[in-house]
Amino acid sequence: PAARVSKFEKDVWSIFTPLAAETKAINLGQGYMNFGPPEAVQKAAKEAIEIVESNQYSHPKGRLRLRNAIAASYSPEFNRTLDPETEILVTAGANEAMYATFAGYLDEGSEVICIEPFFDQYISNITMNGGKPVFVPLRAPERAKDTIISSHEWRLDIDELRSKVTDKTKMIVINTPHNPVGKVFDEEELLAIGKVAEENDLIILSDEVYDRLYYPPLNKFPRIATLGNLWERTLTVCSGGKSFAATGWRVGWLIGPEHLVKYSFAAQTRVVFSVNSPCQEAVAAGLEASLTQPIFQDQIAAYLKKREILAKVFDELELPYTVPEGAYYILVNTVKIDVPQDYSFPEELDSRGGDFKTCYWLTKEIGVAAIPPSEFYSKEHWGLAKDFARFAFCKTDDVLEQAVERLRKLK
Ligand code: GLN
Repeated sequence: PAARVSKFEKDVWSIFTPLAAETKAINLGQGYMNFGPPEAVQKAAKEAIEIVESNQYSHPKGRLRLRNAIAASYSPEFNRTLDPETEILVTAGANEAMYATFAGYLDEGSEVICIEPFFDQYISNITMNGGKPVFVPLRAPERAKDTIISSHEWRLDIDELRSKVTDKTKMIVINTPHNPVGKVFDEEELLAIGKVAEENDLIILSDEVYDRLYYPPLNKFPRIATLGNLWERTLTVCSGGKSFAATGWRVGWLIGPEHLVKYSFAAQTRVVFSVNSPCQEAVAAGLEASLTQPIFQDQIAAYLKKREILAKVFDELELPYTVPEGAYYILVNTVKIDVPQDYSFPEELDSRGGDFKTCYWLTKEIGVAAIPPSEFYSKEHWGLAKDFARFAFCKTDDVLEQAVERLRKLK
């Protein structure tokens, strides 16, 4: 096997998703929905399958109907008229948008700054393309150990970020709304990151897959590509799966200036050539519908309720947690949970962060699966994750209520 791949450890999803299934735990681990896409979107998918042409290879940039729908939906979001020919690329999920961008921009040894916690796929996607991830952490305030905080209180030290730049640095990856913290970076923070990128001529890759999911009092989602002159150096990644409860469709997109989209496109053509065609039609239908119907507003209201259902049990249990400003995860401090030290854990967990054991025990003994966030940190920073577990609330209210009932056993 290739050295780049043979060193991969088993990913967290391949441990906890099967474990949840085997143990019949309620799966608040991997962030996927137990409900389907909006009806209009499902209907469009079925109709697309019935049309011969939409089952064939799409244009490698994406089907025109979808690129037009993205332009219509996102132009107001980006305060500019997006060109569907040159500034939008449909990708095989957000993940492949990032992979293609690393493939398009990294040379052997190129450095990419990743903010911890990071989404785990970034790292292997960078290293498979010869790049080197360099880490800078978000830090929670001291009082997060004892009390509920807002995800906004997780802060990035800009001087620390600046200190990570070398002459090999190519790119900074940001993620907002952030998985797993839920932080929505504000304009001031984004401008500060942007300044570091401008000073050093870096590309910004902004993973905004949860862009349609941010909670009041926020009433606008700040995008780094819209600030100052940062459009010129930013590629924004979005997700049809997250926006329309269709994570298995693998339809995402990149938005950015022609001179940047160009090389992600060049790489993507040589990886997947083109993207799942009928599902592109359906995502297009969803975005078109969102122009006249409050699909995303309704979704926010529904998720706000889900956040409340799940958060209340952590209140009851007096477990400190971070209230997410966006996305659908709650990061909970687990220090007060009494995990028996003599419990028989599988050996494969010995080489992982301590939080893997807590999450394993929660899954098996409490019947609720959660994700250990050390998977989202470099090894040297595992300590920052050891007292946390990530619970996903992208589930129907009744399933969340059942999870709450089981978690009450922790009292
Ligand atoms: N983005 C989702 C999560 O964080 C799913 C990740 C995955 O399956 N690779 O849970």
